[in-house]
Amino acid sequence: MTNRQEQLIDTHAHIFLDEFLEIKDEVIKRSSKKNIKKILMPNINYNTVRPMIELSNSYKGICFHMLGLHPCYLKENYKSEITKILSFVNKETIAIGEIGMDLYYRKDNINQQIDALEIQCEYALKNNLPVVLHTRNSINQTIDVISKYEGRLKGVFHCFDGNYDQVKMITNLGFKIGLGGIITFKNSKLKEVVSNINIEDIILETDSPYLSPEPYRGKRNEPQNISFIAEKLSQILNIPYDKVCEVTSKNAINLFDLQ
Ligand SMILES: [Zn+2]
Repeated sequence: MTNRQEQLIDTHAHIFLDEFLEIKDEVIKRSSKKNIKKILMPNINYNTVRPMIELSNSYKGICFHMLGLHPCYLKENYKSEITKILSFVNKETIAIGEIGMDLYYRKDNINQQIDALEIQCEYALKNNLPVVLHTRNSINQTIDVISKYEGRLKGVFHCFDGNYDQVKMITNLGFKIGLGGIITFKNSKLKEVVSNINIEDIILETDSPYLSPEPYRGKRNEPQNISFIAEKLSQILNIPYDKVCEVTSKNAINLFDLQ
């Protein structure tokens, strides 16, 4: 495992959050040493925009930012917050994210969640950007919304944990499946689902600081751990590790148009 030269891309890491306040530079250095060439950062809310953009400015070509309002942070004023966040979009913005729905955390505001998702998908379409979707307990509802833009919008269902029927619907819409630490968990039923997914439809992510893969489950996650996820995917799909790195990186570069 030590001398591997294969490149990986972490397509989902919130390394601009306070959990990384004092250690951002170390964390990025460690991941570069492990050949994680790019780290893609999905926004949370208005408060996280500045620290995130500062990081992408300091690490051009390595850290890339997205802009959007996370569904768990929807307040009554969500429309104006979305407008404020999206006013920061520039030519370096690689996606609208993370957006989507979360029916685990809250169900009572489902109509606002759908509205916020639609507003941000329409913005993404107009600006020719992909979307990064959070779909906790809401994969089917999110598919319903995304279906309205069939053939025009592209993106990823991040942290996917659904079934194979959902995989088919998502990939038929032209979207990618984002896989992270969950595939390394011992009792995860996701492994069987994943064994049937075409690697051309997969991109990899850590979701740092959350969802650390085995053997670090429960600890603060960071981008360098993506190699454990790639290793597990290589076992599940029975495809060599270097091929997993090559294809998932190519998929991410194409989806996000990374330079
Ligand atoms: Zn996230």
